[in-house]
Amino acid sequence: MISIQVKLISYPKETDLIAKMAAAICYSGGHDYEEIRKDAESKPAEYLSTIVKNGHLSILEHNVYVFYISGLSRVASHQLVRKRIASYSQQSQRYVDAKNFRAVIPDTIKESQFLELYNKKLEDCSNLYQQMVDGGIPKEDARFILPGATTTQLMVSMNAHALVDFFVQRLCVRSQWEIRQLAVAMLEEAQKVSPLIFKDLGAYCDFYGYCPENDKSCGRIKTLKELLNNDK
Ligand SMILES: Cc1cc2nc3c(=O)[nH]c(=O)nc-3n(C[C@H](O)[C@H](O)[C@H](O)COP(=O)(O)OP(=O)(O)OC[C@H]3O[C@@H](n4cnc5c(N)ncnc54)[C@H](O)[C@@H]3O)c2cc1C
Repeated sequence: MISIQVKLISYPKETDLIAKMAAAICYSGGHDYEEIRKDAESKPAEYLSTIVKNGHLSILEHNVYVFYISGLSRVASHQLVRKRIASYSQQSQRYVDAKNFRAVIPDTIKESQFLELYNKKLEDCSNLYQQMVDGGIPKEDARFILPGATTTQLMVSMNAHALVDFFVQRLCVRSQWEIRQLAVAMLEEAQKVSPLIFKDLGAYCDFYGYCPENDKSCGRIKTLKELLNNDK
């Protein structure tokens, strides 16, 4: 049974305070480091969440979080790396032998009559991969037979602004289930070390109060179009 493993392996000290200090530099009128720090420390918890909710997200860019991720399918990692404001190191299928590759099985397939056939096809892919590599086909070519279900490992670094943008997109109930699972796990890790910054994080609609999806909306919260029409 493959499950996603997400571990926050590096983050700055006092992430919430760094963000509050960035905000204090913008708004407080303090003259030096001590004054800015004191001002930031004196602010209540809501200070940060209000600024974040107001969209002043650049104050979060001084905090960088490094995640180790494994057990994620190539299908989901392909979605993850579309987020360009981030740094990635991903396991190579050119250099790493995939003879014993692991694969994700979606629940819909696990609970269906296709499970046996699915597993058989995975085994076929694995066997053909092995035969090809043993027969002198370079790994970079043999890998073309590997399925999208193949698991991968990555190290991902994102600043807190990029993480907010990633979370609001990928925590949406209409997001694909595996990238959503990843986003949930990353949020849980981030909340442990930055409870104030990530306190109110959820899907776009939870965070911003409306749904940007318009005709693709799940209907739980009004779309921007609906809100604007109601105002007429
Ligand atoms: C529900 C959903 C469905 C999706 N479906 C598809 C799909 O079918 N096909 C597909 O290809 N992708 C799809 N994506 C991926 C999506 O298009 C984005 O590539 C991905 O979510 C990263 O978001 P981003 O561009 O905001 O973030 P980042 O890449 O981190 O960029 C952050 C911000 O920087 C700015 N930016 C970055 N690059 C540029 C640029 N070149 N020019 C101008 N501004 C830039 C933008 O303001 C952007 O919001 C989907 C994403 C979601 C959430």
